[in-house]
Amino acid sequence: MNDPFCQLELTEQKQHEHWMRQAIAEAQKAEALGEVPIGAVIVRNNEIIGRGYNLRETTLDSTAHAEMVAIRQASEAIGAWRLLECSLYVTLEPCPMCAGAIVQSRVPRVIFGTADPKAGCAGTLMNLLQEPRFNHRTEVIPGVLQPECSTMLTQFFRKLRKKG
Ligand SMILES: [Zn+2]
Repeated sequence: MNDPFCQLELTEQKQHEHWMRQAIAEAQKAEALGEVPIGAVIVRNNEIIGRGYNLRETTLDSTAHAEMVAIRQASEAIGAWRLLECSLYVTLEPCPMCAGAIVQSRVPRVIFGTADPKAGCAGTLMNLLQEPRFNHRTEVIPGVLQPECSTMLTQFFRKLRKKG
């Protein structure tokens, strides 16, 4: 533990976990409404400037994903469509639409909780966040608090099946 590089890595990991917990708190708001529990926060200068959770059923809007809601809020907060110096934390790997919005808003860094084998476009099905032919590429950090983010989703779907 005397290796300063190692300690720096550890601090960074702790920070990512801290903000991912905030994204999980957003996901729990979605779950309270009967929505699939997915949440996101956007952080700049150690401050949350945008929050969002999945609202697809409530709003009858297929674009009301956690990331989209958070991106809109963050842009409003800073008065700019470019989300420079921002980190986006989301509990589930972004879908093609959200990955597209992340590229369009120039988010430099995305941290996600659990991979999405059905729609993940940050490395699972494809990697729209690091496509060399696009004019913007995003740093991607996968797997932060992965077990928590994944369990939240599997338990939600398990309960849903029991009800049905
Ligand atoms: Zn999405």
